[in-house]
Order: sequence, then structure tokens, then C-alpha cells
Amino acid sequence: MSQFANYIDGQWVEGASVSRNVNPSNLDDVIGEFAQADAEQTQRAISAARKAFARWSLSTPQQRFDLLDQVGSAILARKAELGRLLAREEGKTLPEAIGEVGRAGQIFKFFAGEALRVGGEIVPSVRPGMTVEVTREPLGVIGLITPWNFPIAIPAWKIAPALAFGNTVVVKPADLVPASTWELVKIIAEAGAPAGVINLVMGRGAVVGEALVSSPDVDAVSFTGSVATGHAIGAKCFASGKKFQLEMGGKNPMVVLDDADLDVAVEACINGAFYSTGQRCTASSRFIVTEGIYDRFIDGMKTRMRALKVGDALADGTHIGPVVDDKQLQQDERYLAIAREEGGTVFGGERVERDTRGYFLAPALVTDTTPVMRINREEVFGPVASVIKVKDYNEALAVANDTEFGLSAGICTTSLKYSNHFRRHAQAGMVMVNTPTAGVDYHVPFGGRKGSSYGPREQGSYAREFYTTVKTAYVSPGVV
Ligand code: NDP
Repeated sequence: MSQFANYIDGQWVEGASVSRNVNPSNLDDVIGEFAQADAEQTQRAISAARKAFARWSLSTPQQRFDLLDQVGSAILARKAELGRLLAREEGKTLPEAIGEVGRAGQIFKFFAGEALRVGGEIVPSVRPGMTVEVTREPLGVIGLITPWNFPIAIPAWKIAPALAFGNTVVVKPADLVPASTWELVKIIAEAGAPAGVINLVMGRGAVVGEALVSSPDVDAVSFTGSVATGHAIGAKCFASGKKFQLEMGGKNPMVVLDDADLDVAVEACINGAFYSTGQRCTASSRFIVTEGIYDRFIDGMKTRMRALKVGDALADGTHIGPVVDDKQLQQDERYLAIAREEGGTVFGGERVERDTRGYFLAPALVTDTTPVMRINREEVFGPVASVIKVKDYNEALAVANDTEFGLSAGICTTSLKYSNHFRRHAQAGMVMVNTPTAGVDYHVPFGGRKGSSYGPREQGSYAREFYTTVKTAYVSPGVV
């Protein structure tokens, strides 16, 4: 059985115990045994990052560019192999997994360039003879806590900007899927990151995550995951004066208007709701459909859903891989049961038997729902979407915004008037027109409003708002 160690202060070190990483498409396939850090080992990683910060924060933009550029190239060169590993541990299909790895590589390339573009401002002072200079500096040691649904892209979009702007990192991947992050950290180490600049501590959130969040030596925490964990982490960071950033859930609406191109709408909804097994924070989970197209839309969706092949993530032709684990599968089924109890009608959503033991669930569409039902209010995080029938655009917009979340929102329409209005009035961080609510570029801001996000946006040039702190210097010539 392959063994995978933690990476602390430039050394691979065994953990206090190990945990098995199992393929959700085939429970008999164990990817390996991964070290589990304890609080003491996590503190050692934090201390190593603190020590390394003194030099790394003074490294030149060229040194940071070279490191990140090399990491990006190494990831892209191994896209197929790393994609296979990712599909094996997380369960998204092989093409989706290769796409995610490619995105991670591009993110490192982008932030290599960002290391060169930090810059600053010289501002004329309101006082005679004085000059004001505004510059950006790194924060220090950044603790990164990542979820299971994007095992390489999310660590990449947190690690790359952290390092680009001169911070040092301790990363804790989700315990369910440590292998892709392990490979990423190995690539960064082999590309020549000095000891302590990047540290990997694998293990449970309640142990390793908790140690990161409560350590006074961590200056900032970036987290992606569930609302409950995010709020608990935020409260602790606030209490200890850490800067923090939270990316949490979504209940993303996709509005389909009477004038939509039906094929475009069905394709956007199938992709947005069910690809990556619906396990994306940007997945469409509420279809809000006007009366005139409703019946044709439902027929179109059911026809497409019948043609979707659920199966082994690595098999040719699979459209939807397995649910990530038994706990998530039970959560998906629980929400389908709740939807039925509240009056919804469920199409699909059955467990699927395949040659291997895995967590296979057919995609589910819940009709006859109202905006107050739990299926329309709480994040399910599986291949499950519900439909709300509405009278017109105005009601659709009101229903779309009637949620505590605000990550992504979409509309399918051929009307310029409605698409413009929706872009302006959808209460979400990202708005999509005639394209799925999920699937974003790597060089522009990512994040939401309301209960979905807290703190500055991730990705693109906006990432510097989180990973740097601003200094304002006043310079007088010193002579009167
Ligand atoms: P969590 O929020 O529990 O986990 C996210 C990360 O936080 C993991 O690395 C986890 O560690 C860590 N963590 C857990 N508890 C703590 C803690 N007390 N202190 C510090 N870190 C902690 O999400 P789950 O993975 O359990 O998924 C649960 C639900 O969250 C899903 O069903 C889905 O609804 C939602 N989710 C949303 C995501 C999004 O992008 N919006 C992504 C993933 C999940 P550990 O390794 O122990 O899990």
C-alpha cells in the first residue's frame, strides 16, 4: 500500500496515524494511506512557515515568478496522469478531472505573472512638500483549508496567490481527497520552493483545521466548504484577529424564460445541475421556469436525463461519476425524501448498480415545488435540482433572489432587455446568460454575496485584496 507523508519545513514526515483514501467509483480500490497530522505537528508546520516568511517575503518578483511558472508547467505536463488520480479519488469524470488539473496549471501561470504586477501608487499629499506612497506587502503565514469537491483547483487558487505575493503557506486538504493536493505540494517542493514556504498537513478538520485557526502564529485563513464550518472558523479568526476569507454554499438559480432557445436552456441546465455529480458550489439547483415554456422544458430535461450515463469516473462515456462518499449520498437521498414529503414529485434519483461497489446515484429533477420548500432553500450538493413554475420574468427574478445565498445566478433568454435587467438585478457574485451557472474562467474574480461568501474575492487580480496588506507611507524631504 502506498504511503503519503506530510510535508513540513522541506521534509516529508510521517503523521501521528494514517487514513485510507478510497475510490468512490470502486470501494475496493484504495489509492493509498495518507498521514494524519496532530495538533503538535500542525504547529511545527506553522512555525516552519513563520521562519521561512522572513526570507520569502523579501524574495524578488522574479524568484516568485520562476517558481510559480515552473509549477504551472509541471502541472500542465502531467495533466492526464494527475487528472486520472483526481477522478479516482473524487469521482468526477476523467475529462472533468483533466479539465480541473489544467485549470490548476493555468492558475499558477496567471499568478506567476501577478507576482510581477504588484506595483503601488505615488499620491500627491495635501500637505506641502510631502509625498504619499501606497504599497502592498504580504500578510505572513496563511492557513488554507480546502474542501473535497475540487481537490487540486481550489488548493491551487489559494496557494498560488499566497506565494505570488510573498506569503508562506500551511495547507490542509479535505481528509476525503488528500492525494491531488499531495501531488501539487510535491510539484511545488520539486520546483525549488525553499523549506517552510509550503507546508502540507493532512488530517481531520476538527484537529488540523482547528489547530490552524486557533494558532496565534497564523496571520490569515482562507476557507472553502460548508456554511456551518465557515461560520465557526470565521468566529474564531475574528476572535484572534486573523484576516479571513470564506467561500461557502450556494442555492444557485437558473431562470428559463418563454423566449429561451429550448436546446440552449436544457443543455445549460443539464450541465449546471448534474455535471461533476452536482457537487459544485456553483451548480444550478433551482430552475425557475415561466409558464409558456414549462412543459417543453420538463420534457426536454427528462429526455436528456434518460440519456445520461452514470458510472465509473474513469470509464469511457460516463457523464456523471459517483457521489463522493456514503455521507454525501445519504444527504442527497434525505433531501429527495424531504422534497417528496413536502409535496414534490421526483424524477430519477435512484441508486444505480454497476460492476463495482460505488456511490452511484441517477440525476434527480424535483417538480411541483414552491420557493418555501426545503429543497429550494438548503444546499443539497448532489445531482439534484428542483423546478419552480412562475408567471413571468418579474416573478422569476424575485424567486431567484429569494435565498440566503448569492454565489451564481443564470438566465436563459433571447431577450436583450431581460438579460440586461437580470445581469444588473440578480443578487449574486457571478451572473451567467445562456450558459451554465457553473464553469468559470481562471483569471477573473470568483465569489458571491449574502451567505455564500465573506471577505475579498478569490482569483484574478482581485486575489491581492486578500493576500496582501496595504501600507501608506508619508515622506517629507526633511528640510523646511
Ligand atoms: P466542511 O465545511 O466540513 O469541510 C471543508 C473543510 O473544512 C475540510 O477540509 C474540513 O476538514 C475542514 N473542517 C471541518 N471542520 C473544521 C473545523 N472545526 N475547523 C477547521 N476546519 C474544519 O464540508 P464537508 O466536506 O464536510 O461537506 C459538507 C457539506 O458542505 C457538503 O455536503 C456541502 O453541502 C458543503 N460543501 C460546500 C462546498 C462549497 O464549495 N460550497 C465544498 C464542499 C462542501 P475534513 O478533512 O475533516 O473534512
